[in-house]
Amino acid sequence: MNNWFVKIVNDINRILVPIGCFGCNAYLRKGERTLCTVCRNQIPLTEQNFHKENSFDRIFYGRVVIKKAVSFLFFTHNGIVKNLIHNLKYKNQEQIGDFLGDWCGTLLKNDPILQKIDLVVPVPLHKKKLNKRGYNQVSNFAKQVATHLNIKYEENALIKTRNTKTQTKKNRFLRWQNNQNLFQLNNEITVQNKNILIVDDVVTTGATLEACANAFKTENSVTIYFLTMAMVEKT
Ligand SMILES: [Zn+2]
Repeated sequence: MNNWFVKIVNDINRILVPIGCFGCNAYLRKGERTLCTVCRNQIPLTEQNFHKENSFDRIFYGRVVIKKAVSFLFFTHNGIVKNLIHNLKYKNQEQIGDFLGDWCGTLLKNDPILQKIDLVVPVPLHKKKLNKRGYNQVSNFAKQVATHLNIKYEENALIKTRNTKTQTKKNRFLRWQNNQNLFQLNNEITVQNKNILIVDDVVTTGATLEACANAFKTENSVTIYFLTMAMVEKT
């Protein structure tokens, strides 16, 4: 299906189907959008920032050199964040990305470290997957954050070279092998000497972000930061 067709169907769906809270399904009251007030108050914010070391930074120790990693929310397997992200990725609720990006951008916008960022880049989907879904679920989130921070947003800085299946069940070596050259830099975009913020949805092992950062390795003057909607907390 064409992108525009998927978009129209999604828009019609949004108008016709009454939408409840994407966290708990409760009926949304006047003034509530995407999440009810209860879910909004219960959502597990990580409260991570770009100054203090956190559990997200530690995922990448010894694997890839980055400046800083921040995740907006904690992903729990039965809860508000899981439902939100599921709707965003698989139920055509693209606007959830705007909602989360607006919220996250508001929290981050006064952070002086982020003033150094030159470019916001989403983790891309493979062309085939993008056509199937009709949108990259990371784009709206990343765009909203870029707008709040007044930073340039570049949708196509990275290109995904293979259409990989979900890799969470593979062991670490197989994932590593599978992730070699998984992303390529778009050579129409200049990144030398730039501070790049790479944005993703949910991080479990960090392998995808690691592969994205590796794509920038050829440009050794690039400094990498990560931001994600949510991270799975190791227990
Ligand atoms: Zn709710």
